[in-house]
Amino acid sequence: MSSNIGVMGHPIGHTKSPVFQQAGLDELGIEETFEAWDVAPEDLEEKVATFRASGFLAGCVTLPHKQAVIPMVDELTEAAEAVGAVNWIFNRDGKLVGHNTDGSGFLRALKEKAGFDPKGADAVVFGAGGAARAIVYALKGAGVNRLTIANRTVEKAQALASDFSEGRFKPNAIDMSRDSLSNHVPYATLLVNTTSLGMAGGPAELATPVTAEMISADAVGYDAVYAPPMTKFLREVEEAGGEPAGGITMLVFQGIEGFEMATGQKAPVDTMFAAIEKALKEG
Ligand code: NAP
Repeated sequence: MSSNIGVMGHPIGHTKSPVFQQAGLDELGIEETFEAWDVAPEDLEEKVATFRASGFLAGCVTLPHKQAVIPMVDELTEAAEAVGAVNWIFNRDGKLVGHNTDGSGFLRALKEKAGFDPKGADAVVFGAGGAARAIVYALKGAGVNRLTIANRTVEKAQALASDFSEGRFKPNAIDMSRDSLSNHVPYATLLVNTTSLGMAGGPAELATPVTAEMISADAVGYDAVYAPPMTKFLREVEEAGGEPAGGITMLVFQGIEGFEMATGQKAPVDTMFAAIEKALKEG
């Protein structure tokens, strides 16, 4: 029999979520196993339907299902609606609520682990995919001053900028050429990589969206990529004299918000971080 909490994706073998989620459940004495469910797209609807069962708590949703599950839930939170993706589904007495904690997880990681409050900051986000959408939503809510979205396909950056433009808040959209980047990157105190550049097993593991000579020594560089923990982008930030911060903290904090909404209890944050750090060290 399946457990009442877990993560579903396809493939799912690489997921780090059960490691820290299980540590949290065990610490609070909640007798559940946080499972990893490999769910192919054609089986998604059937799997989501099982989330309505009495006693079922929540399902975390990862690639490639974050958008596909939207029509399968009964209600979306404001965050899920704005980001256009669901990374948690909660069972509220048979009613399924889709939520998104990627943006709030990023923000908490930035504030609590990188020690940076983006309010009033000038920021550049590299990338315009799913992670970028959640992060742009979070940075807008956190009150950044100027926001630039740089993407290989500039039309996607323009669409993202336009979706979040409101009143005085109007993100710039640029391509990733050196010329375009040089007008924005040196003046930013927050740089966020949300492209898959640098990702182990991705299209360009040794690549970076930007190099050290363009980066301010006052900048914090956050990489949504978490494997490897020290990406080429983060090494460039460090070489420039800035503060590098890897994406594992965003992954854990998105999970912590989901854990708290699923269990109704405060998550044992230190225990959950200790579990993931131990697992990463052991490889
Ligand atoms: P996505 O929607 O597929 O977007 C991928 C982005 O990377 C697009 O902006 C794409 O540009 C860009 N890109 C891909 N290959 C490129 C290349 N060779 N040169 C330049 N740009 C390239 O993916 P996503 O869901 O946003 O995920 C992006 C990364 O964030 C992944 O590494 C993922 O693991 C990570 N992530 C981390 C967390 C966390 O909790 N830490 C959460 C979500 C995602 P185009 O638009 O031009 O194709």
